[in-house]
Amino acid sequence: GNESGPSDQSEVVAAAAAAVAVAGDFPVHVPYLLIGAGTSSFAAFRAIKSRDPKAKVLVIGEENHLPYMRPPLSKELWFSEDPEVANKLRFKQWNGKERSLFFEQDEFYCNPVELNSKDNGGVAVVRGHRVVKLDIVGRKAELDDGRTITYDKCLIATGGKPKSLPSLSSAPKDVQEHVTLFRNIDDFQRLDSISRQVKSITIIGGGFLGSELACALGRRAKSNGLEVLQVFPEDGNMGRVLPKYLSQWTTEKVKAEGVQVLPKAIVEGASLEDNKVVLTLNDGQKIKTDHVVVAVGLDANTDLAVASGLEIDSNFGGYRVNAELEARSNVWVAGDAACFYDIKLGRRRVEHHDHAVVSGRLAGENMTGAGKPYWHQSMFWSDLGPNVGYEAIGIVDSSLETMAVFAKSTAADTPRAVVEATGEGVRSETENAASEQSSLKESSKLHAPVAGEDYGKGIVFYTRNDVVVGMVLWNVFNKIPVARRILKEGLTTDKLAEAAKLFDLHE
Ligand code: FAD
Ligand code: NAD
Ligand code: NAD
Repeated sequence: GNESGPSDQSEVVAAAAAAVAVAGDFPVHVPYLLIGAGTSSFAAFRAIKSRDPKAKVLVIGEENHLPYMRPPLSKELWFSEDPEVANKLRFKQWNGKERSLFFEQDEFYCNPVELNSKDNGGVAVVRGHRVVKLDIVGRKAELDDGRTITYDKCLIATGGKPKSLPSLSSAPKDVQEHVTLFRNIDDFQRLDSISRQVKSITIIGGGFLGSELACALGRRAKSNGLEVLQVFPEDGNMGRVLPKYLSQWTTEKVKAEGVQVLPKAIVEGASLEDNKVVLTLNDGQKIKTDHVVVAVGLDANTDLAVASGLEIDSNFGGYRVNAELEARSNVWVAGDAACFYDIKLGRRRVEHHDHAVVSGRLAGENMTGAGKPYWHQSMFWSDLGPNVGYEAIGIVDSSLETMAVFAKSTAADTPRAVVEATGEGVRSETENAASEQSSLKESSKLHAPVAGEDYGKGIVFYTRNDVVVGMVLWNVFNKIPVARRILKEGLTTDKLAEAAKLFDLHE
């Protein structure tokens, strides 16, 4: 009984008339146009096809690849022993099971020229092209080569662009040849090749990407003598997410993975000497290194905004959309590029895989007429090697107040163990197997932990005005449904000790 596809009769007629017309190598009109061939578009076309099985969906993507997932680019792919890994783009999950980076095999997609003649619809991808402008009222998209295409419903899922640092982006060209901004398959292939040739790599940034890549490269450092340095302004790894004590403890783990970590350091200059980059830090110290990886955050990709009359959020960046992820009539935005209204937690923007999936799916459902608001909280995960990992949900920002409870961990409390047990490396997928049931057990007391403790496994609650708005499940896996329920209920600080018991830390 779902409304499927464009219901307006004139749209249907227009679509039929244009059915066989093509502009160059793709149709002049499509019912569903998705801009960006990434994770959110993938989730959107899945949702569109499930609600409107004969839907015709055209995806236009700037990269030369079919849609793929990014998380293994900073994790599993680096642990592969196959020297051909960069070409095959297949990786072993921590449990040893092999899979491809690509969401679907090539045969899943149809040729863009044939899309409109397919009775049962399909999904086609135009690769290597950018959409540069939308005419929202005329429902028309313009490509970088001047071609245009009209649509009934459009999704913007353009992700983001890595930031750089002024000292590097303004450095001479010969310095920049030794610098990588890391986001996609091409960047992985290049860094993989470089890491097999050089003696020293320096990573700037202590967030998700910098910390994961440091651990990945550090592992390689142990086997072939590569020197890996990581430089960032915070006190410890993941300092903007984890409370200070946990961030500092994590830094010790990152060091144990073979990385020389330099916290509280800001890169102020870069030059080239003897074909090596010399980075000058704020304390005057100089680092001489063969190659630099910059991982200092992401800017939402809002290139279309000005030309198309779309609003950008001045606080969070990204296209401003409502709780239904709608920016303007017939235009939705999902994934990293969307600044959306979360009815529970307020306006926010999220840069994680499961959010790209959840919001892409919701946008796809709404493009087919569902009219649903965002209410299902996405989760995210990060692994620093196979033995330390966490899952999280909601707003996890170390500038909020936090309370936590920790317990001793065992060999069963690692990312490797959870993937071995569930057979699934994309951890947002595993939660379906997770149980919401949890027995109430005596648990250790909730406290503000002190430095020097062993944070084997635990739960960190993030609160705002005494209400839980986020949680980090530290080496605790498959409990996200419990955390999601706590968020949904808007639990207050006085009930945290009870809530902590729901996670069975002492099992
Ligand atoms: P993207 O996947 O970036 O896709 C956007 C696409 O749109 C890109 O291919 C881009 O080229 C294209 N595009 C942009 N502008 C245009 C245009 N005008 N016209 C046409 N095409 C355009 N998250 C986690 O939760 N867990 C992880 O472990 C994790 N690991 C990660 C590891 C790496 C190395 C990276 C880079 C990210 C990781 N993330 C992880 C984050 C996660 O991958 C992103 O949040 C997710 O990819 C966002 O999906 P998206 O569809 O919004 O954007
Ligand atoms: P991030 O936002 O996680 O981290 C930004 C980091 O940049 C800060 O922690 C800080 O150390 C550093 N930084 C900021 N300004 C700096 C400055 N002036 N000088 C030096 N360092 C500075 O972003 P990221 O780590 O670059 O990751 C890029 C994107 O990829 C993000 O969207 C991230 O969410 C995503 N990603 C996510 C995961 C995951 O969810 N597990 C993994 C990898 C990448
Ligand atoms: P779930 O994740 O399996 O999602 C259930 C349905 O919601 C699916 O159709 C899914 O496509 C859709 N959905 C997913 N992400 C969404 C989002 N961000 N915004 C809107 N819809 C989204 O289920 P769950 O979250 O574990 O919830 C458990 C149950 O609670 C479900 O059966 C759900 O119907 C119900 N529930 C509904 C609401 C509501 O406002 N409609 C609120 C709370 C709970």
